[in-house]
Amino acid sequence: MASRQPVRAYIALGANLGDAADTLSEALHALAACAGVDRVRASSFYRTAPVDCVGPDYVNAVAHIDTTLDAMALLALLQALEQAAGRQRPYRNAPRTLDLDVLLYGSACIVSPHLTVPHPRMAQRAFVLVPLAELSPGLVRPEQLLAVADQPIERLPLPHRSDGLPPP
Ligand code: ADP
Ligand code: MG
Repeated sequence: MASRQPVRAYIALGANLGDAADTLSEALHALAACAGVDRVRASSFYRTAPVDCVGPDYVNAVAHIDTTLDAMALLALLQALEQAAGRQRPYRNAPRTLDLDVLLYGSACIVSPHLTVPHPRMAQRAFVLVPLAELSPGLVRPEQLLAVADQPIERLPLPHRSDGLPPP
């Protein structure tokens, strides 16, 4: 169902199977092509160590979009993009070809069986806060970054992106 006024939503992207950077790039372009989604803008990509699990390093990023989709429809869209990228869920925190989480949906607070917004663990994760601070510095306070400063994170070099999206 579409709402009338566009809402700015923030999305966390992560992958640690296959060509993770390529998968994130494709997901951003797929998102930009979706009905009800406009003005996709992404942070740099970051390499991070897995949190609460073992496995290959992750590539992470944060994007914001302006969307006329309601929050549940946005979650369904993100899950469809995860499926299209071959996402499987064999166990909790398993390595993944693509993970797309809703961080923020405007100023909404949502607690439902399938969606909690703001994302309940976003403040504990450098792989969310560091790219979020790059994209929208006003949303992250310095003490929040300090609280996750022990989590290794490395910004990956990317070609210049005039539209805020990585090259296809
Ligand atoms: P992870 O928590 O590691 O991202 P999954 O991607 O498998 O794990 O998501 C598990 C469930 O979390 C999803 O089925 C979804 O319904 C639920 N969920 C709750 N809040 C959110 C959110 N803000 N963004 C994405 N998924 C969410
Ligand atoms: Mg997820």
